[in-house]
Amino acid sequence: MAQLWDQPAPEAGSAARPNAAGLGAADLKALVAAMGEPAWRGSQLFEGLYRQRWDRWEQFSILSKALRTRLEAEVDLAWPTLVQSQTSDDGSTKHVFELADGKQVEGVFMPYADRVTLCLSSQVGCAMGCTFCATGQMGIVRNLSAAEIVGQVMAMLNHHEHPEGRPVNLVFMGMGEPLHNLDHLMAAFGVLTDPKGLAIPPRRITVSTSGLVSGIERMGTFAKRPRLALSLNATTDVRRSLIMPVNRVWNLEALAAALAAFPLQSGERITLEYVLLKGVTDGLEDGRRLAAFAQGFPAKVNLIPFNPHEGSGFEPPEESRIGALCRLLSDAGLPVSVRRSRGQDVAGACGQLVREGQRRGPSKEA
Ligand code: SAH
Ligand code: SF4
Repeated sequence: MAQLWDQPAPEAGSAARPNAAGLGAADLKALVAAMGEPAWRGSQLFEGLYRQRWDRWEQFSILSKALRTRLEAEVDLAWPTLVQSQTSDDGSTKHVFELADGKQVEGVFMPYADRVTLCLSSQVGCAMGCTFCATGQMGIVRNLSAAEIVGQVMAMLNHHEHPEGRPVNLVFMGMGEPLHNLDHLMAAFGVLTDPKGLAIPPRRITVSTSGLVSGIERMGTFAKRPRLALSLNATTDVRRSLIMPVNRVWNLEALAAALAAFPLQSGERITLEYVLLKGVTDGLEDGRRLAAFAQGFPAKVNLIPFNPHEGSGFEPPEESRIGALCRLLSDAGLPVSVRRSRGQDVAGACGQLVREGQRRGPSKEA
């Protein structure tokens, strides 16, 4: 049976005016070439945008006055608009971004003592239909462009006046299935890691997938790529297929084979994310099967107590069960962490990312 994720997701429409924000080096060179300027002007734009993080043409003092004036007149410099920002008690801020076509996605800014972690969206909605996930219930609306992915990072760093040099971690754990948008994801990865720009080290970027094996295999072919996290979430095919439709196409055996074949660097581990749904995925037997699954490759486990959202029908686990599973897994020799959902009190925790008005209703189109 054809699956929603077999098809490429719809793409962003093209805007009337070009927008330099979020473009990569090659596109910026093409942009200036179309204005009759030499390619190195494109490199200057790249450095101004991503190293200096300038967001107004007047700041581009390295360019000639004449070029700046033309850019102001002909080219936009517009990052996704922050239309809503809510800071929770733990210091993390959930941002709602409005894109050029009015669609909205969310990102979360999480400051820690030694770094900041940004949770990013890769698509508007998601095609994968996981039953416990609010985004999954929206259906797929469209892919984010590479520029829109980069734009979330820039908009958040600029909004929080993030100082240059302070480490930035990126996790693609917001809206969407990143491997269903791999081309744009990798283009954005190229811009974000470019040493002439933000220079975020590849090892600080993690892509979380529901288990799109074709995408895992393709990502493994890139010489430079993000780290991989797999949302395992259940330990038997029957259970996993019930809550994650993708498992009906690539089951646990197929997943285990893809992860074992994934080319890791020395010291690199694959993160196994595991959402704890009370009475559904949080049994001690699940813990034992999870430990067995993780034997096939270098792994670490991230337990995620379910974040309740309206109408999901699932409940978070008991605290005592989280502790018991944590111990069971560490006794099995696995590094384990528990994601204490930052921003939960403002519905910004991953998995609660759904925009009102974009939710797919029974009679509405996605
Ligand atoms: N689509 C990708 C990345 C976005 S979801 C993926 O599924 O991996 C990021 C993480 O949030 C996934 O591990 C997913 O299983 C988890 N998640 C989704 N809904 C959740 C919820 N309501 N509570 C807790 N975690 C949830
Ligand atoms: Fe999509 Fe991930 Fe939500 Fe599943 S958990 S529906 S893959 S965003």
